[in-house]
Amino acid sequence: MDFSKIKQASDMIKNSSKTMVLTGAGISTESGIPDFRSPGSGLWENMDPMEALSTTVLYNNPKKFYSEGYKILLGMTDAKPNTAHYVLAEMEKQGYIKGVITQNIDNLHQKAGTKYLLEVHGNTREGSCTTCGKVVDINVLTEKVNNNEIPPKCNQCGGLLRPDVIFFGDMLPEDFNIALQEMEDCQLLIVIGSSLAVSPVNYLPSMAEKFIIINEGRTAMDYRCDLKIEDKAGVVLEKILMELNKE
Ligand code: NAD
Repeated sequence: MDFSKIKQASDMIKNSSKTMVLTGAGISTESGIPDFRSPGSGLWENMDPMEALSTTVLYNNPKKFYSEGYKILLGMTDAKPNTAHYVLAEMEKQGYIKGVITQNIDNLHQKAGTKYLLEVHGNTREGSCTTCGKVVDINVLTEKVNNNEIPPKCNQCGGLLRPDVIFFGDMLPEDFNIALQEMEDCQLLIVIGSSLAVSPVNYLPSMAEKFIIINEGRTAMDYRCDLKIEDKAGVVLEKILMELNKE
């Protein structure tokens, strides 16, 4: 690890009056959830998430969606936060960051204690009816799927139930608009564990005054960032917090 970069990141955070964090699937691989694009272990190696997790399949072939894509989502609900999630919650508590914008749907920032969280791709805590809008706990959907009610139907109106996750083909939720507003006066954005290949979220870094990328592997915005730290998220964040807390 290049310690001069840890010091540089810590100085940038200290000198910034507003710092936000943007996370992607790479922050959760150390919690056992595969990302999309890591060579050898990413979900993309075995299937095409762009198809399995799409509105086209959900609405036109819900049986396929609930037997393939939905299983990926279920694999996330029991995972536990790792060091990186906890360090970010601590950095928020100590006032070094305002909050976290996440592309992840695994609920791990929330479980780790992050208070100001913008979930721009939804979450796996809840689902809702595509006809009447009734919101249900995700366990209601899962129980129905486990009981072979595929696709699961709303108890109130009989409409199709779906997870409140943003799929390829969906509109982004209000949290994304709030994230855009946050970028207007954001002096520093720290991007962690994202290939920055998914738009429109990958527009956010260039809207901030400066941005740091902490990622194992290349990203689509490496050429534009102010600092790149190429290592595992947990170990890098732990070292940055130690540096910030030095007298
Ligand atoms: P991505 O898979 O495109 O990129 C992840 C990046 O993180 C890769 O460059 C990888 O090399 C890097 N990485 C892996 N482990 C790391 C670690 N320990 N430390 C640092 N870097 C690490 O992910 P993305 O950019 O978030 O885009 C994928 C989309 O899929 C997002 O929309 C996301 O919502 C969704 N997704 C979410 C989850 C989740 O909620 N945990 C999991 C898979 C996919």
